[in-house]
Amino acid sequence: MGDIFDVSGKVAVITGGGGVLCSEMSKALAARGAKVAVLDLNEKAAQAVADAIVAENGTAMALAVNVLDRASLETARDEVLKAFGTVDILINGAGGNKPEATASGSMSFFDIPPEAIQWVFNLNIIGTILPTQVFGKVMADKGEGVIINMSSMAAFRPLTRTVAYSAAKAGVSNFTQWMAVHFAQNYSPNIRVNALAPGFFLTNQNEYLLIDKATGQRTERGQKIIDHTPVGRYGVPSDLIGTLLWLVSDASKFVNGVVVPVDGAFSAYSGV
Ligand code: NAD
Repeated sequence: MGDIFDVSGKVAVITGGGGVLCSEMSKALAARGAKVAVLDLNEKAAQAVADAIVAENGTAMALAVNVLDRASLETARDEVLKAFGTVDILINGAGGNKPEATASGSMSFFDIPPEAIQWVFNLNIIGTILPTQVFGKVMADKGEGVIINMSSMAAFRPLTRTVAYSAAKAGVSNFTQWMAVHFAQNYSPNIRVNALAPGFFLTNQNEYLLIDKATGQRTERGQKIIDHTPVGRYGVPSDLIGTLLWLVSDASKFVNGVVVPVDGAFSAYSGV
């Protein structure tokens, strides 16, 4: 039996690849011999990740892409096909929340602007579906591929305050299941779609909720999260890599349409 986790020679496309979690994933796949296309709205961030990979003798390219713009995704797809020949792995990592779409002391749920809610729905849901249409078509045509979506704990149980984000990530989990069935029934059983549901990782997009700017201490919410995470800490990006390698490789050949928590037992704990 060869290495069932082998990804060497595979072509991986990673949206949001310039971000905190997906830059780590990009580097981890490249370190194991995958050719990585780092796609991000933030071209500088994507380029920095690709440069870091190349500096370690890996293979990577950076592309400025807006996951909400089909033309920009199609241009990126053409560039990836030209440089690397195919697409084997798609990680839909671009996603996130913003304070304007979050209920708080200064923003009542009743006053949240629809544009802010729409922004979060667009980025997380449309921003997952559109790249799946563009890069998933390459997989459908060749009858093979693996897609990983980024869901969240907020999809399992809505989190207080993050009203739009919780609903949007529930949509990402639902789409993960739908797409897995659709590919398997209509195109090939060798195209799989699964999702990661990270627990609490301290990153740019949630820091404002978890760390008090003035004191640098955990906010009440941050402390609550740690108290409800039996492992007793926030996740760090490298915590996702083992599960990622399992899901993108043959090691998970019969795993399809699942959302895997990587959460230090947050979702298992009833609080008692
Ligand atoms: P991040 O903000 O560090 O990275 C997101 C990246 O997406 C950024 O580089 C950003 O430039 C890019 N991006 C934003 N809009 C884009 C667009 N329209 N087109 C292309 N790229 C765009 O976020 P992160 O914390 O690394 O999170 C990555 C994913 O994991 C997100 O989907 C997030 O919702 C999810 N997630 C994060 C956590 C956490 O604790 N950080 C927990 C659960 C799920």
